[in-house]
Amino acid sequence: MKRVAVVGAGILGLAHAVMAARRGASVTVFERSPRASGASVRNFGMIWPVGQAAGKMRAMAMRSARLWREFLTEMGLPFRDTGSMHVVYRDDEAEVAREFAEIGPARGYNAEWMSPQQVLERSPVVPEGLLGGIYSPDEITVDPRLILGSSPELIQARWPVEFRFSTAVTSVPAGYDQVFVCSGDDFETLFPQHWAASGINRVKLQMMRTAPQPAAFHLGPALAAGLTLRFYPAFRICSTLPRLVHRIVEETPEYEKWGIHVMASETADGAITIGDSHEYGLSVDVFNKSEIDHLILGYLHGFLRLPQPEIAQQWQGVYARHPEADYLVMNPQPGVRVISAAGGKGMTLSWALAEESVNEVGL
Ligand SMILES: Cc1cc2nc3c(=O)[nH]c(=O)nc-3n(C[C@H](O)[C@H](O)[C@H](O)COP(=O)(O)OP(=O)(O)OC[C@H]3O[C@@H](n4cnc5c(N)ncnc54)[C@H](O)[C@@H]3O)c2cc1C
Repeated sequence: MKRVAVVGAGILGLAHAVMAARRGASVTVFERSPRASGASVRNFGMIWPVGQAAGKMRAMAMRSARLWREFLTEMGLPFRDTGSMHVVYRDDEAEVAREFAEIGPARGYNAEWMSPQQVLERSPVVPEGLLGGIYSPDEITVDPRLILGSSPELIQARWPVEFRFSTAVTSVPAGYDQVFVCSGDDFETLFPQHWAASGINRVKLQMMRTAPQPAAFHLGPALAAGLTLRFYPAFRICSTLPRLVHRIVEETPEYEKWGIHVMASETADGAITIGDSHEYGLSVDVFNKSEIDHLILGYLHGFLRLPQPEIAQQWQGVYARHPEADYLVMNPQPGVRVISAAGGKGMTLSWALAEESVNEVGL
């Protein structure tokens, strides 16, 4: 039986551990914190194939979503199989949405244009001024804290995987046939020279969560709106996109300045997770800006008015990102594979990345 070590118990670490175990390896996962506390527990939990670039990334995201469903079902973990809805309130947004729904299917997207009435049948959004939306059935929402918190115990019970929490790895663990390094945005501890040469960067995001909504309220599909159309690479296939981007830059430069687009997802207990902003730089500002939260909530209010609007939590998350590559794989020494910089799509791609890793190292 091959022995595999995984550094990091974020979603990439968990997916690598399970994939290696499914191929018959015995696995040890080292996590420096008492529990995962990186990007994987701070995100929306959106498994988001609709946003990924046409071609390889879209195909990987679809494959990963299938693997997510398989894992969650096998573990008996909850998820919301609701798809996604991008709602539009401006003519230039509607043009992009309609074009995407028209040309997207030929590029592999299951995107459908919805009239205002059809949107309102699925989503509790603001009806005034609603021009329509794009519905896609492929997206699922998981509750990241619940999944990351409960998976280690379930995984240990099912496969020969041992989790060693509160155990920082400061050099490559000895005695293993294969080591997967899934250390998120920690570039400094292992292989700092490789990281320095990689061009990798950090991105800080501000996030919020409401108190649980009344039991009768449901978000339905995870929600996005006009600003998001300029954010995800999927929409770059639309010839109408540059006009929308131009208008946003001219009309609301503050959204551009802080890299804001606004999305909402529902947690297992019915709270709504809201974000986000994007500040780029290796040195992360530890202090959040109330201006950013106000801008996010102001934009959200344009399309979603929640019965329970109270913000119960605010936090920041940080992920690693490469300016050109979709994600980064490095093999700094034989038997060691580093997987990082999946950026804002790491939750979505995690399972496909892990599958690619075990295939490529021959497990
Ligand atoms: C606010 C926010 C929202 C996002 N929303 C989404 C989304 O909705 N959908 C999506 O697809 N993606 C989303 N992302 C991106 C996604 O969360 C990340 O790409 C993904 O979680 C990265 O997973 P990871 O396992 O590589 O890193 P992490 O989750 O950061 O985990 C790395 C782990 O490694 C541990 N570690 C590091 N160094 C060591 C060491 N030397 N020894 C032991 N342990 C170590 C850390 O403690 C940490 O627990 C979002 C990210 C953020 C920040």
